[in-house]
Amino acid sequence: MYKLNVVREDFLFLEFDGRRWPTAANVWVIFDHDGLILIDTGLNSEESFAGIAACIAATGHAVEEIHTILLTHGHTDHIAGVQQFLKHVTPRLMLPAQSLPIATSPDLQSEQILPQAVREIVPELADFDVLDNFRQTCGEWVLPEADVSVIHGGDRLQFGQYCFVAIPVPGHEVGLMMFYEGDQGIMLTTDFLRNDGAGAALPWYSSSAGGVDLYLESLAKVAEFSVQEAFPSHGGAFNDYRAAVAETHSAIVNRQKIIEKQLSVGPQTCRELDRHLYSARALELCPWYSSVTEAHLAKLEKDGRLIREGLRFSIANLT
Ligand SMILES: [Zn+2]
Repeated sequence: MYKLNVVREDFLFLEFDGRRWPTAANVWVIFDHDGLILIDTGLNSEESFAGIAACIAATGHAVEEIHTILLTHGHTDHIAGVQQFLKHVTPRLMLPAQSLPIATSPDLQSEQILPQAVREIVPELADFDVLDNFRQTCGEWVLPEADVSVIHGGDRLQFGQYCFVAIPVPGHEVGLMMFYEGDQGIMLTTDFLRNDGAGAALPWYSSSAGGVDLYLESLAKVAEFSVQEAFPSHGGAFNDYRAAVAETHSAIVNRQKIIEKQLSVGPQTCRELDRHLYSARALELCPWYSSVTEAHLAKLEKDGRLIREGLRFSIANLT
């Protein structure tokens, strides 16, 4: 279930091979003089844990050597596995400060995945139980708040020979960070960049996680980094970091164009727009894709171009 990539002898990239939700996030393992640092943890299941443990064992190390776990953001497919590791070790837990609320509060997690604004315009989602879905797919995931130390944008994390700088990239999740190792040109792109090898799940964003404009701002901010090796949280390593930034940007702009084109033909509901953007299968597995559509509608509203009549939307053409 996890493919072991030995990037350096002290830097492992564990690539989860699933492509459809629920997919565990990839995991990175870094070795230092004190033991192991784990970055993200996968799902809270014995199978996910065993997959990570097997990769670590294949390098002659053991889960018991883990002294630090860094979480890239507060989504359940990244943080739920912590519960499994806590059965074996008592590591220092680190998480972006702005991710702490959704990692420790079920209600806030639910609101960021499927905001109330989405429930109001997609009636079939009004009572959708996001938390029950996450418990079924990712396992119990809520982090114990008292035990987490928070990190902020610009923080430098010295892990063995690697000094990673935390780069805030809100949009997908308010606290999401990428981690950049400038000396060696390594970027951990986490959930921020689209990766064809991981299916079409990313980029994902909701208006309560940053929305369209903030996501595009984050992309502009990271486009010029000098990156030789880039590793995402879903799918395999990127061949070309800047191309991945450009493709992510295009994916967002294309969704905006599709929605504007549809709305210029005539009034549509959010669910009707969803069907122009995502496959029926994707909507069935992840009903919270409607949150992306709503984020685009929110952008149109902010720009003064959205006309709403009940649950139907159309567009005001600015002249
Ligand atoms: Zn995520």
